[in-house]
Amino acid sequence: MARVVIMGGGVSGHTAATFAKKWLGNKHEVVVTPNSLWNWIPSNIWVDVGEMTKEDVTFALAPVYKKAGIDFRQAKALGIHPEGKEGSDKPYIVIEYTSKEKEGQKEELTYDYLINATGPKLNFAATPGLGDANGLGEHTVSVCTADHAVHANHELQKVFQKAKTTRQKILVGTGHGMCTCQGAAFEYIFNIEHEAKEAGVRDNLDIKWISNESFLGDFGMGGFATSSKVFAESLYIERKLDWVIGAHVNKVEAGKAHYELLDGTMGVEEFDFAMLLPPFAGVGLKAYDKAGADITDTLFAPNGFLKVDANYAAGAYENWKASDCPHTLQNPTYHNIFAVGIAFAPPHPISKPMSSPNGTPITPTPPRTGMPSAIKGEALVR
Ligand SMILES: Cc1cc2nc3c(=O)[nH]c(=O)nc-3n(C[C@H](O)[C@H](O)[C@H](O)COP(=O)(O)OP(=O)(O)OC[C@H]3O[C@@H](n4cnc5c(N)ncnc54)[C@H](O)[C@@H]3O)c2cc1C
Repeated sequence: MARVVIMGGGVSGHTAATFAKKWLGNKHEVVVTPNSLWNWIPSNIWVDVGEMTKEDVTFALAPVYKKAGIDFRQAKALGIHPEGKEGSDKPYIVIEYTSKEKEGQKEELTYDYLINATGPKLNFAATPGLGDANGLGEHTVSVCTADHAVHANHELQKVFQKAKTTRQKILVGTGHGMCTCQGAAFEYIFNIEHEAKEAGVRDNLDIKWISNESFLGDFGMGGFATSSKVFAESLYIERKLDWVIGAHVNKVEAGKAHYELLDGTMGVEEFDFAMLLPPFAGVGLKAYDKAGADITDTLFAPNGFLKVDANYAAGAYENWKASDCPHTLQNPTYHNIFAVGIAFAPPHPISKPMSSPNGTPITPTPPRTGMPSAIKGEALVR
């Protein structure tokens, strides 16, 4: 009986798990994920304006997996041993439990097939003041998790309250020159604008967009086939939202976001409330060979995402082709290891790479959206 181990019970991992169960039947399947709740992350942008609650966008995984007959371990994966260890060729991963009952306990889990669906590390530490190794800092809010969204709404309501008597500045966008996920921040700025009107405080708010896009509507894809520049600019102008683009936010302080622009000039944006997305990285999994030597570089790209069958040698922007993207999401060295969702290393960005005269890269990284993440989860197990 083959054992499929899926690391990560989020959008792509949960989809892979449920389809694997459907198609593989009783073959042993294990999901390892540190979270007890599943979160439909795209709906966080309703939680962070108070239109939905955390309970509306999450559900408990344990009862779902119990009913489906999936072996659920509330734990985080720490390392992959694709060649086994001395005395055994059986590949395995090391996990550490996060559930209350078994917190901190480590265990080895063998696998025949391994799917890495661990999503992103929210790399707040990449921008001083945006956060640190423990996560989000104290100066800004985030919409990346359900708990972040609850906190964002709490802070937003305070600003709406103040705006009844005093003019307030709101800043929304990306908190680093190499961020992805502009779409989430884009939705949030328009939700805030709408809610401000509903609350009767719109006239007392300056709402500004700041992002690493070189034009409004780039979205990390170099824009859409129809002009997303016209579409995005129209929306901002109609709703009297100001913008700063081509910006790498390089430091955040209380009420201030410092940034560098594509032309090399530096600026500061003041705010009373700011939601700035962090850049994404891999979650920091390690890999070891049979003798215990570190082979993390063999399995993972420097940004921590798992290498798959993408063309990482495409070279300059002019040479990039759609066919550089992966077809099987299979690791080229260990063919029984796969990655889905945000966890795989894309071959290169999609938007044209740009940097300032100071050499700072300011380019949206490829969009990592939920729809393809879930579809790839299904396609992979098929
Ligand atoms: C606010 C917001 C709005 C968005 N809106 C949209 C939208 O409208 N449409 C759209 O298509 N996409 C949207 N996205 C993007 C979408 O949410 C992601 O593309 C999707 O969640 C990626 O799926 P994933 O499985 O790769 O990662 P995730 O869904 O983040 O799941 C990763 C899982 O891995 C777990 N994990 C982490 N570390 C470990 C470890 N060491 N071991 C085991 N498990 C681990 C995590 O706890 C998590 O459960 C939005 C994103 C945000 C932040």
